[in-house]
Amino acid sequence: MTDSFSNLSLAPTLARAVAEMGYESMTPIQAQAIPVVLTGQDVMGAAQTGTGKTAAFSLPLLQRLLKHENPSTSPARHPVRALVLLPTRELADQVAQQIKLYAKYTQLRSAVVFGGMDMKPQTLELKKGVEVLVATPGRLLDHIEAKNAVLNQVEYVVLDEADRMLDIGFLPDLQRILSFLPKQRTTLLFSATFSPEIKRLANSYLQNPITIEVARPNETASTVEQRFYAAQDDDKRRVIRKVLDDRGIKQAFIFVNSKLGCGRLARSLEREGLRTAALHGDKSQDERLKALEAFKQGEVDLLVCTDVAARGLDIKDVPAVFNFDVPFNAEDYVHRIGRTGRAGASGLAVTLVSPSDSRLVGDIEKLIKKKLEVETLQLDTRPAGPAPEKWGARAEDRPRSRRREDDDPRDALDAPRERRGGFRPAPVNRDPFFEKPYEAQAQDASPTWEPTTPRPARSSISANIKPKRKVAALFKSGD
Ligand code: AMP
Repeated sequence: MTDSFSNLSLAPTLARAVAEMGYESMTPIQAQAIPVVLTGQDVMGAAQTGTGKTAAFSLPLLQRLLKHENPSTSPARHPVRALVLLPTRELADQVAQQIKLYAKYTQLRSAVVFGGMDMKPQTLELKKGVEVLVATPGRLLDHIEAKNAVLNQVEYVVLDEADRMLDIGFLPDLQRILSFLPKQRTTLLFSATFSPEIKRLANSYLQNPITIEVARPNETASTVEQRFYAAQDDDKRRVIRKVLDDRGIKQAFIFVNSKLGCGRLARSLEREGLRTAALHGDKSQDERLKALEAFKQGEVDLLVCTDVAARGLDIKDVPAVFNFDVPFNAEDYVHRIGRTGRAGASGLAVTLVSPSDSRLVGDIEKLIKKKLEVETLQLDTRPAGPAPEKWGARAEDRPRSRRREDDDPRDALDAPRERRGGFRPAPVNRDPFFEKPYEAQAQDASPTWEPTTPRPARSSISANIKPKRKVAALFKSGD
């Protein structure tokens, strides 16, 4: 079977851009979605990150917009025809860059607007007229209110990473934005998972959508080798170094659960002589883009990041992802490891499991429907870590509401030396938890991490972004 782009009869201008990208054949989501989008139908697409979904929606959209392309310099001849909404600045930037590449031989214009940047240059670009507008919801509302963006001629809307937009609390913003659009339009919704909330969003805004699922929701890419290593908090950095050394890996993402932990870990690794940068929500937009660029250019080897900052980043050839902290939210595991093994490349995902993480690992097992084995990695020397008699302790033994960043023991260089007692490797799977089937536990106090934190910081990005509200309540106004 050939899933060649040449089967699509793309316009020569688009075909040329695709050829220049070096794509040999379509990815599964592209093979399924492009023909459907070319017919103008609504789509509900389940696709993992890194599957090529940006091209899956943008190539057919551009093809359908070609009838509007014109060389006029008049802004009136370049109204917004397609709107692509994404949850984070980095993702918006990344998708916009891809669209620019695909559209480079056409006369269609595209622009991106996101928060954390001066509105003026964005305003100037919008005023000149663009056919494709990529945006994050809050900043787009700012531009709509300032009358910089007029959306009454929009024909296509893409809600990308829709699950994350709901997680972040963008539903009210989305609803407002959609209210400015013509009723007659094509809507494409992409989400890594089809939660009930996503299905409700789709039911409200999509018309007879064609469902496209290239991988089961919550499935992790088969090209990613997943490893779980038992590690005491104080040993985690040594485990990372050992894996990097043993496998000859040069670059990796390291995920942590808190902004504070992110900064600390990056500083510790830096002190150990590793070229490291930190990426988290408290960093300015400029710092975030610089850190990413440094990583892309190979000036930085390790990018320590939190989930919000790293969501959906497409950096080719990230050979490994480390979960320094097991994510509090199992779905984030899928997203994190989706940073590696992209577009068919092989990747390694290593999760460092400390004694109190059993339940979180159980949540991941349940989500990805796969039994996970926590292995022990023999460290070469044995200077670190308290005796592991706590192995086997259930996560519930430690209050989950404890803020890890308040007394983070992981940064051993900052921690008292006395704690670095004799190390004995932890026995594997001693926890009876792993021996029995998963039982759902009542969720107690949710951990403090970026997406669920009340959002004062956001208000500095945009006055339009409101705190997260119960999603269900926003769809129906009471029975
Ligand atoms: P996305 O899932 O859209 O973020 O895409 C992930 C990566 O796959 C991007 O770097 C794309 O440039 C790349 N990509 C997209 N389509 C293809 C293709 N057909 N063949 C090879 N790489 C692709």
